Amino acid sequence: MSYMQQPLYVLAESTQRTSGADARRSNVAAGRAVANAVRTTLGPRGMDKMLVDSSGGVVVTNDGATILKEMDIEHPAAQMLVEVAESQEAEVGDGTTTAAVLAGELLARAEDLLDDDVHATAVVEGYHEALRLALDAVDGMLVGGEVDREALLTVAESAMTGKGTGDIATGVLAGIVVDAVLQVADDDDRRVNRDDIRVFTRTGASAAAAELVRGVVFEEEPANDNMPRSVEEATVAVLDTKLDVRSGEVDTEYTITSVDQLDAALSAEDAERRTIAETLSAAGVDVVFCSKKISDPVAAYLADAGILAFSNVKASEARAFARSTGARRLGTIDDIEASDLGTAASIRVEKHAGDDVTFVEGNDDSRTVTLYVRGSTDHVVDETERAVDDALGVVVAAHEDGEIVPGAGAVEVAIADRLRSGANAVTGRKALAVEAFADAVDAVPRTLAENAGLDPIDALVDLRAHHDSEGVAGIVIDGPSVAITDPRDEHVVDPVAVKREALESATEAATMILRIDDVIAAN
Ligand code: ADP
Ligand code: MG
Repeated sequence: MSYMQQPLYVLAESTQRTSGADARRSNVAAGRAVANAVRTTLGPRGMDKMLVDSSGGVVVTNDGATILKEMDIEHPAAQMLVEVAESQEAEVGDGTTTAAVLAGELLARAEDLLDDDVHATAVVEGYHEALRLALDAVDGMLVGGEVDREALLTVAESAMTGKGTGDIATGVLAGIVVDAVLQVADDDDRRVNRDDIRVFTRTGASAAAAELVRGVVFEEEPANDNMPRSVEEATVAVLDTKLDVRSGEVDTEYTITSVDQLDAALSAEDAERRTIAETLSAAGVDVVFCSKKISDPVAAYLADAGILAFSNVKASEARAFARSTGARRLGTIDDIEASDLGTAASIRVEKHAGDDVTFVEGNDDSRTVTLYVRGSTDHVVDETERAVDDALGVVVAAHEDGEIVPGAGAVEVAIADRLRSGANAVTGRKALAVEAFADAVDAVPRTLAENAGLDPIDALVDLRAHHDSEGVAGIVIDGPSVAITDPRDEHVVDPVAVKREALESATEAATMILRIDDVIAAN
């Protein structure tokens, strides 16, 4: 039959297709390129990257997730690695560089195996086997004892070292991050709602000037210039209703036919506005946060009554005020009662870097806190904010599950050791993949050493020897000095959640990329 000789086109002519070894090679290369882009930033001696976007905007950062986000990566396999960093950031808030480096190494080692004719399926299975052993090894490294404030401080400092915040600022920032988490954490189940920790940034002071406000900081000015700019021991109302004459009422109640009637109507409106201010004042309200509009005349009456009011505050802010002051959010001011109102130790409007910034300090039991992050320039503020975000992530993770492990590569050395001794028990070619996984995990201490200026091979040899004799050994960096020692003694620790997540997400991404043997791209 003649049609069988005709070529059969299933795909459009413009479709690009690569398959088998070529597809794999291109995917692996793309994945490794991504890992290489971030590896020099790993650890306290990691370098920063300056990223310039197409419109000339500049970001200077050391944060893996940020670098990958800003890089505008197109290759689909590389994109998968970017997603690893993103999910790592979303799940535990730190460890993004580690996860990306690990995924890249897993791909590189896999490629060697594939070149030696080990089937991709065997590599994938071996990696999963190795992951199980690795997680086991991580569990064996848990630092016992309660994760108290001291321990959380070390976790926060480890997460921020090398982020360009400087030693003094790191100490200050670690302190306020830990206090913030402890303030809002649930007393019973230790859970933290991240929405309760707000970060407010402003230039005009050094990063060490950062402070923790047990309440809300926001950029809003009083609704009227004659309002007080500071109130102590304030009684607070949070309103979700417009403060003005109720629209429509005037039209329906009056049919205006003369100037007198118009005057009467206007003064009725005016009386209604005045009543709003009087109602609030009579209820004992000193400060009003209103998520809807407060009209200018009402604002003037509020000012006359000595009330400080903010109009059109954001919904997220209204929530935060309510959480911080204990006020109820009210849809109407009719029948307003004392129990609807909240209290704040102090509310003040200050000028910072040229703008009005309002500080609402709740009471000791405030359920919302704000980290007021400062820096001399926008770039410093941005990078400090990223460091604070990372620190918040790790401190929350460590506080919630109460478990930490030694940092500085110590966990990775232990994992590699476990994998190498466990590889014998794994049958067939999968054993090669388990060994390859061990080599990939070595990349973390190797990279820490490299970034600290050590010879990576010598450092690994020393590290293993120390691990064998002492049990726990890491490449501990303290300012200018580097030592192979027990990281716990130097307070270098990571939350176990960050380590677990990095291993899992890196393995997942690498195996997902390895399973692909055909790339079909529509044009
Ligand atoms: P990531 O994005 O993976 O968190 P970082 O640049 O924050 O990347 O580096 C994290 C690694 O640096 C972890 O392995 C951590 O244990 C290690 N680390 C943190 N502080 C120190 C220190 N003082 N000495 C050595 N290693 C450290
Ligand atoms: Mg980090």
